[in-house]
Amino acid sequence: MFGFITFNDKIHTQGGFLGNMRYLDFGTWIRQQFPFRVQKISIDAGFTCPNRDGKISSGGCTFCDNRTFSPSFCTKEKTITRQLEDGKAFFAHKYPDMKYLAYFQSFTNTYAKTDQLKQMYEEALAVDDVVGVVIGTRPDCMSNELLDYLEALSHQTFLIVEYGIESANNQTLLRINRGHTFECSRDTIERTHARGILTGGHIILGLPGEDQQESLRQAPIISSLPLDILKIHQLQIIRGTRLAREYARQPFHLYSVEEYIDLIISYVSLLRDDLVLERFVSQSPADLLIAPKWGLKNHEFTNLLNKRIRERTTR
Ligand code: SF4
Repeated sequence: MFGFITFNDKIHTQGGFLGNMRYLDFGTWIRQQFPFRVQKISIDAGFTCPNRDGKISSGGCTFCDNRTFSPSFCTKEKTITRQLEDGKAFFAHKYPDMKYLAYFQSFTNTYAKTDQLKQMYEEALAVDDVVGVVIGTRPDCMSNELLDYLEALSHQTFLIVEYGIESANNQTLLRINRGHTFECSRDTIERTHARGILTGGHIILGLPGEDQQESLRQAPIISSLPLDILKIHQLQIIRGTRLAREYARQPFHLYSVEEYIDLIISYVSLLRDDLVLERFVSQSPADLLIAPKWGLKNHEFTNLLNKRIRERTTR
């Protein structure tokens, strides 16, 4: 499976409802932002990460394996333009009138000098039919100087800055070697939002040491951040990661699909109504995934989720 996200993969909603639960889904929201269909194309712009190159640590977050991020057309040996052209060719046969968002996804996409970053983002925006950029990064890699530039850029094009938050619990962040605190996430999200830049966040449910109760404790805290968009993933153990070694030494509980669905339903019910929810589940390539092996395609997960909501509401 490819690492890019298709908007069609989002949980199928009925006009912004998940079953009878109201929430704003990303697919519906993004269709309101453009008069045409848009698709993200992932780019590996050749960045590294301060949590891997020794600046913060050399081990990286314990769950991280960037092989799970990148589709085959996305490789840093190719220029940004080439990666986008290849991505466009991949999608265009399906929807010839499609437009694209350049998704700077792999590693830390603000980890360079501002001038170099400007060149990269602007190279992407110069590609035909690219109508915006999405920049994934860590909250401790966002200077005010870069925010000045991004604020100006957001007046000229569609821009989302997406931060890995992962957890609101500093003990967990320490345990997964995240290299920053939750206070850092809050500060950077507030600085970004204050400039009118669309701000996204990413969290993982089921990190070591976090049970359902802890996730539900965190939901209102995450919801209190001035985020526009939230992505939620289940924890996955990926081959070759530090977490995989930890799990082999001392296995810990990973959610069954039924447990995760129940958690998602409760979690979403604690979030702000105006928070755009981009996804609830992630699927790493089968050959890299150690556990949990749910063996479900996104639409199969969706069907189970909707079935469970119906069961809970008709009790
Ligand atoms: S910040 Fe991102 S790229 Fe860096 S180690 Fe953590 S998950 Fe990997």
